Amino acid sequence: MITVEEAKELIKINSNKGRIVKKNITSINDHVLAEDIYSPLNLPSFNQSAMDGYALFIDDTLPSGTKLKLVGEIKAGDEGDISINSGEIIRIFTGALVPDCCNAIIIQENISKEGNTVTTNKIVKLFDNVRKKGVQIKEGELALEKGTLITPAAISFISMLGFAEVKVYAKPKVGIVVTGNELVTPGEPLLTGQIYESNSFALAAAVEEFGGDVIEITRVKDDYQSTFNQLEQTLSKVDILIVSGGISVGDYDFVGKAIREIGVNEKFYKVRQKPGKPLFFATQEEKLIFALPGNPASALVCFYQYVLPAMNTFSGKGFKSLPIVKRISKSDYTRKGDRAIFLKASIDGETVRILEGQQSHMMHTYAISNALVYVSITTNEIKKGDQIECYLI
Ligand code: AMP
Ligand code: MG
Repeated sequence: MITVEEAKELIKINSNKGRIVKKNITSINDHVLAEDIYSPLNLPSFNQSAMDGYALFIDDTLPSGTKLKLVGEIKAGDEGDISINSGEIIRIFTGALVPDCCNAIIIQENISKEGNTVTTNKIVKLFDNVRKKGVQIKEGELALEKGTLITPAAISFISMLGFAEVKVYAKPKVGIVVTGNELVTPGEPLLTGQIYESNSFALAAAVEEFGGDVIEITRVKDDYQSTFNQLEQTLSKVDILIVSGGISVGDYDFVGKAIREIGVNEKFYKVRQKPGKPLFFATQEEKLIFALPGNPASALVCFYQYVLPAMNTFSGKGFKSLPIVKRISKSDYTRKGDRAIFLKASIDGETVRILEGQQSHMMHTYAISNALVYVSITTNEIKKGDQIECYLI
């Protein structure tokens, strides 16, 4: 059985960046830029007023108390083809083009006005309140580098440059296949011996949260042929196949046999960890196949630790799991057995508390936790006051 670290390494070396696609700026949030973008224009592309006020021409400075004659107005969007003579001033507004005949703006709070006469109440200096052409970026300069994570702010900048589309890494197409005779969809009546199905909902939410595209969710009974047919069909459509349940050693666990029969490169089966020991990972060309144990807490721990970094690699974000922070433990914990352990925990400010109810079928604890604490095979215990690493959920 391999260790958590070995499992991650095997996934890492088998994960690849996905397709590069052109996407409209309305749908690139949280994508990674797949090209260098050069500015096709100067920003701003003309000298621009930063304030509501008055535009004028000065030599160097203009003293307070100067009287000037108001001769026109330029508002945002106007062409601004006005010229002024010495002793004249123009009304101007934020965002408006500052004509070539002007080189400073005095803000409206700093003048007094009587009829057409404007008196300055403050000294004016060259280029006061003028955003000079190209001050943000000049035509031809590198605007954003390939590999930049696109945030709403980046979308704003890309739009300001006039791009309607850019090249980004596609989101992985993910298919989820859920196995189990006992499973009933929430909302349906439950017969004796049955349980409500939860993994598909949790996994789909997690995939979507981290930028994957769930294209299909299907459910199969614990029967070899239907499992084989469904896995083969879903695998043909996706970049990442996630299977839930049926990967243990019970008489009705058919996932391993079916996947092997489809023809994949098996990379590992079983990881020295708790929860989530019977985790299976394989590839088929560029496609990745993860068979997660069916216990809900195991499935979700395996998603965060193994599927998520592979998804992030595909999206161009690099092999990254959940963010890690250090907190001071408020709990004592002694590891039993020789497996690495992921513990549901609750971070509150600078401290973290390990929660009760860690078993792999227990989702109540997971539902109220906001972190996972990793206890490696070399860490035997955690003591109150220890600084420990926590994965933020
Ligand atoms: P398995 O990995 O198929 O042996 O399932 C292990 C345990 O997880 C069993 O108690 C199953 O009933 C439960 N389980 C499996 N799949 C799901 C699911 N999709 N939703 C909720 N519980 C599940
Ligand atoms: Mg099962």
